[in-house]
Amino acid sequence: MTELRFDDYVVVVTGAGGGLGRAHALTFGSRGAKVVVNDLGGGFNGDGSPKRSMADEVVKEIQKAGGTAVADYNNVIDGDNIIATAVEHFGTVHILVNNAGILRDVSFRNMKDKDWDLLQQVHMSGTFKTSRAAWPLMQKQRFGRIVNTASGAGTYGNFGQTNYCAAKAAIIGFTFALAEEGAQYNINANVLTPIAASRLTQTVMAPDLLAKLDPGFVAPIVPVLAHKTSTDTGRLFELGGGCITRFRWERSQGIEISAYANPLELLENWQNISDFSKPRYVRPVTSIVDSSTLPSAEKT
Ligand code: NAD
Repeated sequence: MTELRFDDYVVVVTGAGGGLGRAHALTFGSRGAKVVVNDLGGGFNGDGSPKRSMADEVVKEIQKAGGTAVADYNNVIDGDNIIATAVEHFGTVHILVNNAGILRDVSFRNMKDKDWDLLQQVHMSGTFKTSRAAWPLMQKQRFGRIVNTASGAGTYGNFGQTNYCAAKAAIIGFTFALAEEGAQYNINANVLTPIAASRLTQTVMAPDLLAKLDPGFVAPIVPVLAHKTSTDTGRLFELGGGCITRFRWERSQGIEISAYANPLELLENWQNISDFSKPRYVRPVTSIVDSSTLPSAEKT
């Protein structure tokens, strides 16, 4: 095998008019996929008039290189319409890359409702809307690959980004839940926390750092996760600038207590509760809950 191919696969990439999304769309376009290049074309903070040229330019790039692509200009908040574009042109969607995003950075004290609400709508609701619209198609064809885009802001927190951190952390939990529900339908869901030079990062990073963060360092993992041979699901990858790692939670050794234990007992053992020198790795909740009681037996 010389490369991973996606002939006859339909790929939707949201926010594909620039930055990481453009890199994902070009990567799939050059490997035989039929690509829906979605981009609203608004400003980096969700304000500004939409410009169709952002998606159009990427479609032209893919077509010029011999690939197949159509533009879609819907807001991800209307994610159903983006999936409808895929169905209208190509009959279905096999691979969904939820990537569209904005920033509205402001210290918590000064955060307005709009800064909060718009962030949740674009990142969280956008990811939900496209995924929910694609889900029945993926279930029916017994194949689906969803790659979501979170951020280190969601795993670590970041000053001035409570809105963004909350939305990105939500996307991580959302992805893990999709992986649980998708397993029986061969629908895999994974999530990235990337770092790359883009319209979003150029306002906060120095030019010499940006020069080392080509989105092309992030793009190659997406075909790996999206390929029919991939069995990875429910995973989080932290990547960018030439480094790719998997990221997972860990537990401290902890202590055992009785119900309504004296809180002072906890304080006396605080060092053990916080001791990560011998980490324990987290099992999903479904491995400790009787799965026959979960509402996963739904039939299509
Ligand atoms: P970018 O601004 O270049 O790309 C985001 C794209 O999404 C833009 O082209 C924009 O027009 C589009 N978009 C915004 N709102 C939209 C909407 N409502 N509907 C449709 N399209 C919309 O920035 P990027 O850095 O390439 O960001 C891509 C994703 O990666 C975002 O989700 C971002 O939060 C995430 N991310 C980026 C970095 C980084 O270092 N660049 C780090 C962590 C996470």
